[in-house]
Amino acid sequence: MKQGRLILLSAPSGTGKGTVVAQLMRMRTDLDLSISWTTRAPRPGDVEGETYFFKSEDTFQALIDQGGFIEFAGVYGKHYGTPRAYVRQQLARGRHVLLEIDTQGALQVMRNEPEVVSVFLLPPSMQELHRRLSGRGTESPEKVAQRFAFAYEELKQAEKYRYCIINDDVASAARKVSAIIDAADCEAPLLRGHIQQLQEETVL
Ligand code: 5GP
Repeated sequence: MKQGRLILLSAPSGTGKGTVVAQLMRMRTDLDLSISWTTRAPRPGDVEGETYFFKSEDTFQALIDQGGFIEFAGVYGKHYGTPRAYVRQQLARGRHVLLEIDTQGALQVMRNEPEVVSVFLLPPSMQELHRRLSGRGTESPEKVAQRFAFAYEELKQAEKYRYCIINDDVASAARKVSAIIDAADCEAPLLRGHIQQLQEETVL
């Protein structure tokens, strides 16, 4: 069976990645979102098992020790990681899997899985990013400042991704990610099995 594609999506905090992902998940029935583990506390709106699996530092460390993460990283003093088992299982079933992760984790995945399809979402402007970050109302002004400063750090990595999309319109950005997934799904080497079958098929 044809393997699914692993898709990486990163963006500075406040770019609207979550909204684009939600739209994308509504558009595609062949795509699964990998739910990360984190040691950060749940925020309003977070749902265990839907936005994250919330874990203690000890439990998180135990999975690191077992080699159970595809990647993991420290972001804003907390751990975030992608459990390996679910991703492997879904790809083997032919499902596409989306990792919505930060640049540190993404670079680890790019190193270990060169065939990964990497997408970086850009804000239309830094002013707009700042507006969105402060308007969220879920973080203290210090946390907003910290996330805003970190956005400049994340932008330094943007050109290491295969694709960059400006998120000036959610529907359009989601459509572009979807088009990238479609293109990735048609890469010739993936169709090798089907091509061989065609060559072996006798009609008359
Ligand atoms: P937040 O705390 O706002 O939900 O996420 C903070 C950052 O952590 C975001 O940039 C998000 O993409 C990133 N993140 C979420 N899950 C993972 C993960 O599994 N691995 C890595 N490396 N980063 C993650």
